[in-house]
Amino acid sequence: MDISGKKIDEVCPVCNTSDHWSFQYHSEFNQFHLPIYRCEQCGLQTQFPKPNTNEMYDENYYSGKSDYSYIDERKLEKYHNYVWDARIRNIQKFVPGGNFLDVGSSFGGFLSRARKFGFQPYGVEVSEYSSNHSRSNGIETFTGNYLDNPFPTHFFDVITLIEVIEHMENPREVFRKFSDQMKSGGMLLLQTANFEGKQALEEGKKYHYYLPGHIYYYSLSNLKKILKEFGFSRTKDYLGVDFPLSAKLLKSRGNFQTLWDYRRWLTIISYHMKSKILPGSTSSMVVYAFKD
Ligand SMILES: [Zn+2]
Repeated sequence: MDISGKKIDEVCPVCNTSDHWSFQYHSEFNQFHLPIYRCEQCGLQTQFPKPNTNEMYDENYYSGKSDYSYIDERKLEKYHNYVWDARIRNIQKFVPGGNFLDVGSSFGGFLSRARKFGFQPYGVEVSEYSSNHSRSNGIETFTGNYLDNPFPTHFFDVITLIEVIEHMENPREVFRKFSDQMKSGGMLLLQTANFEGKQALEEGKKYHYYLPGHIYYYSLSNLKKILKEFGFSRTKDYLGVDFPLSAKLLKSRGNFQTLWDYRRWLTIISYHMKSKILPGSTSSMVVYAFKD
């Protein structure tokens, strides 16, 4: 039953029909009260009405001054490198080199590491402020929305979106463009929350992933469905993350001030082990999808 009083007037980007939406609830994480709808056919969730994303990504977002900020990676680059390097080594098991696009490339830290490992880096970033930084570091970066990027078709060997796909509007056009710009055999990496994961199901409306900038909330099964439709029929799925626990622990030290902070390792270790022992018990998810 639709208790929100609003009728959603959009097509589910996974199912390509508009018949199966139902109102779930207003989210309760951080008092954001986002109106959440769910497609009963595929499980995709969305905010409706849609937020105004143009107002969201200003300098305050990227420098950590707004309520729902991106963390400024530049201060902690040394620590981020542990995770970035481990991730790139894992990517190279599948695609050893070539043109590497990071969508939502921010200040270009991840791409700098990809370049160090032999990839040719390219970025797409909505923020002028952070893409200027990336360009000054010699990384070709398009400022704007992914759909407007001018890079050629069949050009990329790797495209990565780390906690970015949930921010993107018009998923069908976005997945079509991934497909067009990817070389055959190229690899798309998507990291987002898995709404079929136990954590998301148990926490329901209080789940911390309900944030103003997150427009679509995917799951492993509906993500694989839309990937397949757009020419990525083979995937390697990580219910958890695609890098080892050691990298995560080394990265976390960037936020530690005193020895006492090392107690946080217990939480990180238990979360990581849970995802290894019982895949699907957390809601972390990384999908590597290969272009047919
Ligand atoms: Zn659907």
